[in-house]
Amino acid sequence: MIAGRRCVFLDRDGVINEEIEYLHDPARLVVIEGAVRAIAELRATGAAIVVVTNQAGIARGYFPESVFEEVQRRLSEEVEAGGARFDAVYACLHHPTMGPPLYRLDCDCRKPRPGMLRRAQAELGADLQRSWVIGDRHGDLQLAWNVGARGALVKSGYGLGELTYLAPGWARPPDLVAENLLEAVERILGREVE
Ligand SMILES: [Mg+2]
Ligand SMILES: [Zn+2]
Repeated sequence: MIAGRRCVFLDRDGVINEEIEYLHDPARLVVIEGAVRAIAELRATGAAIVVVTNQAGIARGYFPESVFEEVQRRLSEEVEAGGARFDAVYACLHHPTMGPPLYRLDCDCRKPRPGMLRRAQAELGADLQRSWVIGDRHGDLQLAWNVGARGALVKSGYGLGELTYLAPGWARPPDLVAENLLEAVERILGREVE
């Protein structure tokens, strides 16, 4: 049997770029220090890097889909300028109760539902059991656990707040806690040396 590909799924806002609530202006995109290097280091190990982002601001009418695409284009440019790249970018643009019909959808891709990870399984041959999700919110961890992957929480973005105020109530602790994406990646790679 041919082994599937190990993927590292990255939440975007608060993990790769600074969290500003509903990033609706491409000029306000700020990439978190070390994030590009982290992505490059992961890709060098053969892992596929997949962005998985909920963008319900579109369904809510806070910004149009074209703004999301422009932000994403700038982010990809910065990542590529640093010698890395994303293998795929998946976004859930839906909201279960808000927005016009195309966006108002009780979809299977809104995290923590596993649709975007299943898509990576189908399109990239992702081996989810060997994969990680790195995020700044509990929903990112639940996403990982919903498919048998491991979940890392970073303290950037909402992470420190979630860890301080919400984590004591979680039934399962994160598989890894790190200051930021670069530290999370270094520890994941260190752990997997066999
Ligand atoms: Mg986030
Ligand atoms: Zn969706």
